[in-house]
Amino acid sequence: MSLSLSQRAARTIQSEIRVMSIECEKVKGINLAQGVCDTEVPEPVREAAKRAIDGGINSYTRAEGLAPIRQAIAEKMLRFNGIQCDPETEVIVHSGSTGAFYASCLALLDPGDEVILFEPYYGYHLNTLIAAEVAPAFVILRAPDWKFSPEDLERAATPCTRGIMINSPANPSGKVFTREELQWIAAFAERHDLIVFTDEIYEYFVYEGRHISPATLPGMRERTVTISGYSKTFSITGWRVGYTICDRKWAQAIAYFHDLIYVCAPAPLQIGVAEGIAKLPESFYQKIAQDYVKKRDLLCDTLTEIGLTPSVPKGAYYVLADASILPGRDSKEKSMALLRETGVASVAGSAFYHGGDGENLIRFCFAKNDKDLEEACRRLLLLKPRAQRGVPIVAMK
Ligand code: PLP
Repeated sequence: MSLSLSQRAARTIQSEIRVMSIECEKVKGINLAQGVCDTEVPEPVREAAKRAIDGGINSYTRAEGLAPIRQAIAEKMLRFNGIQCDPETEVIVHSGSTGAFYASCLALLDPGDEVILFEPYYGYHLNTLIAAEVAPAFVILRAPDWKFSPEDLERAATPCTRGIMINSPANPSGKVFTREELQWIAAFAERHDLIVFTDEIYEYFVYEGRHISPATLPGMRERTVTISGYSKTFSITGWRVGYTICDRKWAQAIAYFHDLIYVCAPAPLQIGVAEGIAKLPESFYQKIAQDYVKKRDLLCDTLTEIGLTPSVPKGAYYVLADASILPGRDSKEKSMALLRETGVASVAGSAFYHGGDGENLIRFCFAKNDKDLEEACRRLLLLKPRAQRGVPIVAMK
């Protein structure tokens, strides 16, 4: 018998985003590939975490998380999302929303079940399902405004369908699902008796329309597993603090799998986040949307000027741009060509599609401090004269 990796490992592939970040590092470029969010961490969050470390809050916590953060999240869920939940039995603090989704899949899905993803999708959603031996099914969001129909949902359903994943605002499309679309999904979920997973990590990054939590739609509370976290809102992607809100029927099993894989989210960082939620005023969250809409417009205007026509996102902090004019046989070659020419890293569109689609798209992330984003745009704009002359803006290698 020869040594080998598991079949599971063979089925999962390294994230294209990480690959691009490594390439960017090699050329000391500006990384608009990864959603690393290098803006400042709010002061109350930082200070409370430091105090917690100094005050000795450094041990394992209850798997569901410390009481102050569960309480703070429950209050925020009512205030912002309109969801009433019991902090004792319906809130689980996780190691990021990534951990929240993985633990939820293990608790609620069996091998061979199917879960519907909207495409273009976030790669971790797909790979988490694959790791849990759940088969993905796809509903295509049609560019440039990422529409779908109730018939599209029905076509994706089979007798094995157990769940559907909503990500609004969405990575990578920036789609903000409308109430009507969520109502279609709700009716579909009831008809097929599905669990609705909803990843709301970008809930405060909404520029057009408004954020609606699917659990607030009539009849949805029991079947909805709401996942979110503070990586993006507080610029703490490395802290790993997220959460799940769900009916108490599911919560214990989800907490159990969280315990098994991660034991608990980092204890002092739970306190930092709790304090941030409790102390930061409404204006903090409004400012996020105000600041990011400026970043969005700067990047989208730049891309328009050089002929990489963007689909202007309504939320989140990514832009999918039409890369047809870049040289290369596929989107990987196109994003590499752009990196070579400008030192600006993007992600190949193929990372967000399971079939051959996405080859003419590349994704940029604008969660950058203003200085770096302006420098990236300055470099991209150097391609403008060529775009205006109608010659290839990036040379073939
Ligand atoms: N969900 C989506 C849609 C994301 O885009 C990301 C990060 O890019 C995450 C989840 C990761 O969140 P966390 O840091 O809470 O695990």
